[in-house]
Amino acid sequence: MVLASELLRHGVQADVISNARRQSPHSRATILWPRILELLDRVGVGEKLVAAGHYFDQMNYYSNKKMVGLVRFDRLRGVGYPFAITIPQWRTEAVLEEHLEALGGTIRYDHAFVEGTQSEDTVHCVLRGPDGTSTSRSYDYVVGADGYNSTVRPAFGFEFAGRTMRTRLAITDAELVGETTSSEAAYYLTRTGNMVLAPLGGGIFRVGASVPDGYQGEPDRAFFERLLSERVPGERRLGEMKFSGVFTAHVRSASTYQRGRVFLVGDAAHAMSPSGAQGVNTGIQDAVNLGWKLAGVLRGDYRPGLLASYDRERRPAVETVAGLSTRLARIGLYSKPHQVIGRDIAYRFGSATQLLERVLAPKLAQVDTHYGPRPKRRGLVPGERLPLGWRACAAAPVLAVDRYTVLLWPGLEYRYDRWVQLVERLGEAVDRARVTDLGGRPPGPVLAKLGATPCALVVRPDGHLDRVVELDDREPEAAVRAVDRALDERLLPSPARALVTS
Ligand SMILES: Cc1cc2nc3c(=O)[nH]c(=O)nc-3n(C[C@H](O)[C@H](O)[C@H](O)COP(=O)(O)OP(=O)(O)OC[C@H]3O[C@@H](n4cnc5c(N)ncnc54)[C@H](O)[C@@H]3O)c2cc1C
Repeated sequence: MVLASELLRHGVQADVISNARRQSPHSRATILWPRILELLDRVGVGEKLVAAGHYFDQMNYYSNKKMVGLVRFDRLRGVGYPFAITIPQWRTEAVLEEHLEALGGTIRYDHAFVEGTQSEDTVHCVLRGPDGTSTSRSYDYVVGADGYNSTVRPAFGFEFAGRTMRTRLAITDAELVGETTSSEAAYYLTRTGNMVLAPLGGGIFRVGASVPDGYQGEPDRAFFERLLSERVPGERRLGEMKFSGVFTAHVRSASTYQRGRVFLVGDAAHAMSPSGAQGVNTGIQDAVNLGWKLAGVLRGDYRPGLLASYDRERRPAVETVAGLSTRLARIGLYSKPHQVIGRDIAYRFGSATQLLERVLAPKLAQVDTHYGPRPKRRGLVPGERLPLGWRACAAAPVLAVDRYTVLLWPGLEYRYDRWVQLVERLGEAVDRARVTDLGGRPPGPVLAKLGATPCALVVRPDGHLDRVVELDDREPEAAVRAVDRALDERLLPSPARALVTS
C-alpha cells in the first residue's frame, strides 16, 4: 500500500491485489519507529498514524528482575519524530488503505497472483479471481509484496536462504493489571527465558515471551501469568486477553531483491527475528526506497538504471537491521553466568555513560539507515539520511518529496552579493529539482557537518544525500553545469531541454 500510494501520487497506474478477503485482523507488528514515521509522513499519513497510535519513548532492560539499562528516544537529534508509537498492524493497514483510496487506488481483495513469466519489456501474470477463474495480464513491472510465503518469489526464481530460529515465541495483547507505565516498553531477561511488555494504550499491553523448552500447551492466561511472575518484577495479572498465539521466527533473505522487471519488498524479501520489532518497519523502508524510483522511471523523469540501486541499497541495509535483531535475540537468551554478568555490566555501563543509547537508539529508530559506504570521517557523505524535514519549520529547510532538492550552502565566509547572484542563476537554470538556499538559515545538525567552502547538496526525494557538488561563487555558469551534471546521473533531460538540444 505504501508503494502503490507513491505510484498513484505521481499519476502512475498500479493494480493492487491481495489473495485475502480483507486485511489481517491480527495486531502483529505493534511498533512504528521514528524513521518510519518520517517516511510515512512523507507518504502523507504520518500525523494520522501518530494520532491513532500510542506514544512511547523509552526502552528499559531488566536482568533477573533488576533494571540494568535504558534507551531513550526523545534525545535523538535532528529527527522529525523523537519517539515511537505502538499501533496494531491492522490499524496501520486501515490508515494506509484509506490513504490509497483517497488517491484513487483500490485493493482488489480475493485476487491471487498464481504464476508469471517475464520478457525484456513486460511481465505476464496469471491471476485468479474470487470465482476461481484465471485471467492473464501483462504489466511493465511486478512487485511481490506478498509476505513470507510469497508466490511471486519462487515464480520468478528468487532464492530465499536462511534458517528457522530455535526458540518459539508466545504473544498476547492483554490488559495488564498492576502495570502503571504507559510510555516505556521493557525487556525482562532471565536465565530461563525473556519477556517483553509494550504499552498499546488504554491499559492494554503487547506481552511477548520466549516459550520454555519442551512446553507444548496453549499460551493461555495461566501460561502468561506464570511467566510474568517468574520473569517480571512486581505483581501483575492479566485482564482480558484480546488474542494469543505461538509463532516461530525465521531469518532469511532473498538472494536479490530484483530480477529484471520483478521486485520483492517486505517479508517476501526478508524475514528477521522479532527482537527489536523491526519487521514491518523494514518493509516500509523497502517500499519507500523503490516507490520514488519506480514512479520517476515510469513517469519518464529518471534514468531506468536507477532501479538497480533498489537491491544494491536495500539488501545491505536489511542485513544490518536483521543482524541487529538476531544479536538482540541472542543476547536476550543468555543463560550461562559469565554471559549474563558480561551483558549486565555492558548494559549498566552503557546506560550510565549513555553509550548504549547513542549506539542503539538510532539503530532501533532506523534513523541511521545509510545507502552506500559508511562515513569514515566527519562531513557529509552520499547515502546518508539528512536530518532535515519536509515540513516547513523555522530551523529546517523543506525537502521536496516528489523530486530532487538542491540545497545551496554558501560556506562560512561568503560575499553576500556574489552568493545571491549565484542562487538566482541556479534557481533560473535548474528546472529539474527544487533549489533552496541554506545561506543565513542554519540547518540544525547539518550545519556542523558542512564545510567552510560553498557547495550544493543534491538530495533524493527520500531525504538521503545523493552527492555533494563543490561550487565557486565567482563562476555561476560553471556552478549550473556542475549541478546539471550531478542531476544528469539520475535524471533524464527535461522535455524543454531535449527540444533545445535536438
Ligand atoms: C505474531 C507476529 C508478530 C509480529 N510482531 C511484529 C512487531 O512487533 N514489529 C514488526 O515490525 N513486525 C512484526 N511482525 C512482522 C510483521 O507483521 C511483518 O513484517 C509484516 O506483516 C510484513 O508485511 P508485508 O506487507 O511484507 O507482508 P504481509 O503482512 O504478510 O502481507 C502480505 C500480503 O500479501 C497477500 N498475498 C500473499 N500471497 C498472495 C498471492 N499469491 N496473491 C495475492 N496476494 C497475496 C496476503 O494476503 C497479505 O495481504 C510480526 C509478525 C507476526 C506474525
